[in-house]
Amino acid sequence: MIDNIQASLSYAQEQDVQDELRSYREKFYIPEQENGKPHIYLCGNSLGLQPKITKDYIQQELNDWQRYGVDGHIKAKNPWLPYNEFLTNKMAKVVGAKPIEVVVMNTLSVNLHLLMVSFYRPTKNRYKILIESDAFPSDRYAVESQLKFHGYENGLVELKPRKREDLLRNEDIEATIENQGNEIALILIGSPNYYTGQAFNIKRLAELGHKKGCIVGIDLAHGAGNLKLELHDSNVDFAAWCTYKYLNSGPGSLGGCFIHERYAKAFDLPRFTGWWGHNKETRFGMRDDFNAITGAEGWQLSNPPILSLAAINASLDIFDEVGMDALIKKSKKITAYLEVLINQINGNSVEIITPSNPDERGCQLSLRIINKDGKNVFNAITRKGIIADWREPDVIRIAPTPLYNSYEDVYNFVEILKKELKN
Ligand SMILES: *Cc1c(COP(=O)(O)O)cnc(C)c1O
Repeated sequence: MIDNIQASLSYAQEQDVQDELRSYREKFYIPEQENGKPHIYLCGNSLGLQPKITKDYIQQELNDWQRYGVDGHIKAKNPWLPYNEFLTNKMAKVVGAKPIEVVVMNTLSVNLHLLMVSFYRPTKNRYKILIESDAFPSDRYAVESQLKFHGYENGLVELKPRKREDLLRNEDIEATIENQGNEIALILIGSPNYYTGQAFNIKRLAELGHKKGCIVGIDLAHGAGNLKLELHDSNVDFAAWCTYKYLNSGPGSLGGCFIHERYAKAFDLPRFTGWWGHNKETRFGMRDDFNAITGAEGWQLSNPPILSLAAINASLDIFDEVGMDALIKKSKKITAYLEVLINQINGNSVEIITPSNPDERGCQLSLRIINKDGKNVFNAITRKGIIADWREPDVIRIAPTPLYNSYEDVYNFVEILKKELKN
């Protein structure tokens, strides 16, 4: 991927000079340390940084609210009534979907539940839900509570790595679906997995699952804005993600949903409804029976918080300008750079558990600290200005995000880590 990688500051700086996306770093606020120097922020997988333009987008809506009050729904520069539509095309491009398949609404765990109302339809013989054994806790809670709600408490099937392994093997996933698929109602997998950084071939998952009659949903909390996704072509039934990780839209910002086009007019599918999912022509008539909008928008419930949509809109404008192809190109390169530098460190002190195949990961590498108290190492590098993420029992997650991280960030991080591992 990169030739002749050198563990030198000058080499890292040379990569930054050649980086086609280098100008984007300045479009973000990088948090500062007490000494005024910027942190080395490698935590965009947890909370993406604030684009400098976000303020203006939010201020615009505050101004229009001040100026128009309720009339802002129509008179605002970006009218609030259709505001969510301003995001649709851009979000669809980020995840490789058709506009009719995408909507921004609610938050991720809420959306998972709403989607399960429609897509988890257990029967006596087919009621199980397949997830990763180390699925994100919220996903596990959501799934367990759905099973319980439907009266199938023993219905959880977990994909576990083999003994002394960290990653799921494709052959084991396939065997589980092959052997138990007839009893599985829903496959719900996070890609990449938040802990290991392992990304899955979701097209293959959809194919295997559908062959067995399972519905296939993907949690893209760590995938949206990080992986090259072709959601429509992958044929998964649904997907959901948040926008505050790689999509840089601010803490707790609204989530995104994908519902495959083949359900655009599936009006007989059970769903929980609210006025915002109702036909826009007659939404304010308030007297008609529910009449769902065609496509993903038909799953909306409430009128959405415009200030959050504005922040997402700002961020999506950056993604739209850069394009996922350029983003992925840098992502693969800067992640490979981090990988090479880590692998040059003594293997008795740190190992990468994330797949080495660039097609099976995004920009996150999960580092296991060996033979040392990992938490102490993490605390020490934190004191040196690094912002990363600690996961019990022994993993530091590092995400060099292509929009605002530099090769120099990666170099400096590894130098600091190396020193702490030697101490
Ligand atoms: C971050 C994350 C969540 C968080 O859910 P919220 O409802 O946005 O709080 C859920 N699932 C996964 C896989 C995540 O990575």
